Parts: sequence; C-alpha cells; structure tokens
Amino acid sequence: MTRVLTETQRRVLYRRCFDHLVASCTHCERGYMLTELTSGLPEHRAHTCRQCRADLTPSLLDHLYRCREINPPIA
Ligand SMILES: [Zn+2]
Repeated sequence: MTRVLTETQRRVLYRRCFDHLVASCTHCERGYMLTELTSGLPEHRAHTCRQCRADLTPSLLDHLYRCREINPPIA
C-alpha cells in the first residue's frame, strides 16, 4: 500500500519547500523539486520518480522531518 502525505504535510511542503529539493530517488540518484513531483492528476497523490516510478513519498516524509525551513518540524 502506498503511503500518502496528509493535507497538513502537503501544505507545509508547498509553503516552505518550494525552492529546494524535497525528495531524491535512491535508484536514479536524482533529486526532485516539489514542482517536478506535482505534475500528475490531482487525484493521483502518489509521488513517484519520473524515471523508474519508485515511490518517493518516504523521501518526502523524511524531508519533512529534516528540513531546516520547517520550524518547528512537523510529524
Ligand atoms: Zn528513480
């Protein structure tokens, strides 16, 4: 089952993390900006690597914990 971000988490990402890399694909060793992950249909909430289709949601969640732009960090 694919994990998805909560509305709150998505809102924080859009507000704070619009100008830097928010996820990376370990397979392709490629970083992604938020804008590169949101080109899908609105109802398609999974965030996947454009090259290998790996699920990048765990990477996004990890960013939410680590990002210095988000203060205090949210879970
Ligand atoms: Zn990939």
